[in-house]
Amino acid sequence: MARRRMIYEGKAKILYEGPEPGTIVQYFKDDATAFNAEKKAVIEGKGVLNNMLSEHFMVGVAGIGIPNHFIKRLNMREQLIKAVEVIPLEVVVRNVAAGSMSKRLGIEEGTPLSRPIVEFYYKDDSLSDPLVTEDQIVAFQWASPQDLDEMVAMALRVNDFMSGLMFGVGIKLIDFKIEIGRLFDGDFQRLILADEISPDSCRLWDIETGRKLDKDIFRHDLGDLADAYTEVATRLGVMPKKSGGPSGPTLVK
Ligand code: UDP
Repeated sequence: MARRRMIYEGKAKILYEGPEPGTIVQYFKDDATAFNAEKKAVIEGKGVLNNMLSEHFMVGVAGIGIPNHFIKRLNMREQLIKAVEVIPLEVVVRNVAAGSMSKRLGIEEGTPLSRPIVEFYYKDDSLSDPLVTEDQIVAFQWASPQDLDEMVAMALRVNDFMSGLMFGVGIKLIDFKIEIGRLFDGDFQRLILADEISPDSCRLWDIETGRKLDKDIFRHDLGDLADAYTEVATRLGVMPKKSGGPSGPTLVK
């Protein structure tokens, strides 16, 4: 196959020109980074898991009418997506205090929030993605007030969907990050969900044990990241259950 033109290489993904105008191939790497890429590692299998999981979540949210960039999965590491102009904001939704919010406001990790909180961070690595206000977003024309209303509504709908899906498999959705892009269609443009939804961009805690099943495992050296992501994928039925050798009769206690 002819070598494809690379459009962009990020920390965890590479974007290639797609087969048709308006399409892009999104390739999931095994690279993991944290703390603005100060910590790096290659975690075998992470890209495959995130590709499958992101497909599962994007198809799911599309099913409740949240438009997104996913077209189809091409293979274990790649998916075909719609080209959008990504709004330079990370939209974070929180259900339980954790991470940067706990640190900034001195709220103990694990404290449930009385309502979901939506926050915006300006995507700029050289500034370490600072938290920004809606007024700043409008004044600097990263998004209009109407865009912001739509983004908040979309983020809260994704939160409801993802919280329910995770609850069903014994996992609490603590917080997550999404990115939103503008899809142009002639004179029209609409906002659609872009990037990925995966355990790289969520906090997921086992409801029973509190075990972390997300990228915090890598951030804080808490164990095997690929094992945890496989656990999430298995519970959701995205990956077949690990077989412990040849299947045979099971012991009934
Ligand atoms: N997040 C992300 N990418 C980022 C920053 C945050 O995917 O560049 C996700 C993170 O995994 C968590 C949520 O957004 O699920 C909230 O992250 P937080 O602001 O607590 O930042 P962190 O603790 O990652 O510094």
